[in-house]
Amino acid sequence: MQMNADLIVVGSGFFGLTIAERAANELGLKVLVVDRRDHIGGNAYSEADPETGIEVHRYGAHLFHTSVESVWQYVNRFTSFTNYQHKVYTNHKGVVYPLPINLGTINQFFGAAYGPDEARALIASQAGEFNVSDARNLEEKGIALIGRPLYEAFIRDYTAKQWQTDPTELPAEVISRLPVRYTYDNRYFNDTYEGLPVKGYTNWLENMADHPNIEVKLGVDFFDESQPINKKAVVGQVPIVYTGAIDRYFDYAEGELSWRTLDFEREVLPIGDFQGTSVMNYADRDVPYTRIHEFRHFHPERREYPTDKTIIMREFSRFATREDEPYYPVNTPGDRDGLLAYRGLQDGEKNVFFGGRLGTYKYLDMHMAIGSALSMFRNKLSPLFGGPEG
Ligand code: UDP
Repeated sequence: MQMNADLIVVGSGFFGLTIAERAANELGLKVLVVDRRDHIGGNAYSEADPETGIEVHRYGAHLFHTSVESVWQYVNRFTSFTNYQHKVYTNHKGVVYPLPINLGTINQFFGAAYGPDEARALIASQAGEFNVSDARNLEEKGIALIGRPLYEAFIRDYTAKQWQTDPTELPAEVISRLPVRYTYDNRYFNDTYEGLPVKGYTNWLENMADHPNIEVKLGVDFFDESQPINKKAVVGQVPIVYTGAIDRYFDYAEGELSWRTLDFEREVLPIGDFQGTSVMNYADRDVPYTRIHEFRHFHPERREYPTDKTIIMREFSRFATREDEPYYPVNTPGDRDGLLAYRGLQDGEKNVFFGGRLGTYKYLDMHMAIGSALSMFRNKLSPLFGGPEG
């Protein structure tokens, strides 16, 4: 087949668009981006709800944060950011506590007024034999970090809903995402830079793709051989950056990796404010959803939002089938073996580069996906096309 693209990018999420943008702007390459969905941006896509005009993150809340200076500089080329700082609360047995676990959570939970050192000593005694550096899985790490009572209240059942996997089978890193603080600081993220795109995620993503050398074709399934830009026709003809699920690429030859998917239920309510905050987690098993998002609170600066209506979205988690959108790699020991087998197959795919959360089977945040795309561009793609390296 005659190609008029120098590079094909499969998937228009942050990883794919970063590669496309760099290749077009820095190397002047012609880039064709294909995506199975009818919109750009992967799971970061957002849209205005038709009834309220409130920006809804269709695939769940996306909060941008990073401490990497080069990533922050890069993303600011395409959007400016509000000064939003993410905070999360959790409902346990009908009482609301602040997250991540901090001195406020500890004192509220134990009905106490401990200072930082007293709280540290209490948690250490409740952690029993577990310690953070030796923790081999999520459960051991969780108990080591916050002690058994808080683990059982805030982590155990939420994790059971979110992963439906024995917490001793889950990697300890999943819980490392959540800091524990012996102060009253309840910012969810520790990063230097944080904010939401002033004009929304879709505007940011579109700005990345806005270049005469970048063509984005939507509704194109890379595995559908009835259309021209399919795996069989293009691999070997032109370098490919593939950001879809790695097991799907190899037609599940080494078995299915486990992925979690999410279901969302949206509801417009005839009130100005439902929960007073953007994300409320539900820690207990008797509530079937993991959290409720209320999108107006992500943009308190938007004066145009209605004051008599609000939109909420309940989030439910389950194992993904092949037909579902994968969201989270589960990463059990069995999955890690499978992933190694796929990495072996990947080495045989000349000029196909795997990236992003789905392509690497790694729980990457947006800033990590962008950072790893910038490195892949610099270290692998740029030298391949005769550009600068390193
Ligand atoms: N977690 C939990 N209780 C909570 C919030 C998080 O047990 O109230 C655990 C859970 O295992 C979850 C992980 O911490 O999967 C990471 O949470 P985070 O909010 O960072 O996940 P994301 O927003 O990416 O789904």
